Amino acid sequence: MRSDLASICFGGGFLVGPGLELPEAPHANLSPDARVASGCNQLECSLCGAPVRHRVGFKAARAGGPELAAALYAEADWARSKSLIAAPSGRLYACKCTLVEIADANAFRMPNRTWSCAGHPSPSGAPPGMLVLQDEHTAIMYSPNIPYLRVDLGGLLQLDAFQQVLTNKFIFALVAAKSRPHVVLNGAQLAKLGTDQVEWLGATWSRRAAASGMKRCSFVALGAQHFALFSQIFEHSGTKAARANGLDLRFFPIEQFHETWEAVSWFGG
Ligand SMILES: [Zn+2]
Ligand SMILES: [Zn+2]
Repeated sequence: MRSDLASICFGGGFLVGPGLELPEAPHANLSPDARVASGCNQLECSLCGAPVRHRVGFKAARAGGPELAAALYAEADWARSKSLIAAPSGRLYACKCTLVEIADANAFRMPNRTWSCAGHPSPSGAPPGMLVLQDEHTAIMYSPNIPYLRVDLGGLLQLDAFQQVLTNKFIFALVAAKSRPHVVLNGAQLAKLGTDQVEWLGATWSRRAAASGMKRCSFVALGAQHFALFSQIFEHSGTKAARANGLDLRFFPIEQFHETWEAVSWFGG
């Protein structure tokens, strides 16, 4: 993660054809209230780890797999490439494992966020104060003045979407880079919480969280009434399982959320 990270593209970042804007300024990201899609200039591949290259006016001369992508990625000047031909209405994207061509005014997001926005620096280059990384179902909040990280979750998230949202690399990167071992997961706006999600948090997610340096995590979800029905599951599938992985994971009813959020002292001891 960039140390001067200020923002990510809402929705993970678009690939765009030549008919749509792709800003050059590194700080230009797609904000949640943007009306027209624009391309992300900080795309990164989650499979090969490479920053994504792009250029208008080319396409591959032949179909090819990862080998072609790797060879093209290594070529400094695509205008001299023997593997490419002119394609004025297309934009060619490449990482070390994948090639994508986008035509005209099309905008496209990679399935499963194989390529996604790696974060944009702040315009001034100055270190950001309150940092809010807002995405479709999450907002990750960091402040130099608050000793823990807050992650808001929202919407109807089935297990796979829930997992995708909570394995957002920025959560772990911020825990590590900003020394924030304490995290509040605010699930007050979640439309649903199932036992499968709690089990996954306790058994699987806690391992990755602990590996990033996270020590305590407060998960806030469900009103007090439902919370009482879930308390056994929280305790056994959540807290106990997480403790075995080195994470102190606790669950709170929504009514206690503000208490938890304000009570910085909860994390103090
Ligand atoms: Zn971006
Ligand atoms: Zn790749």
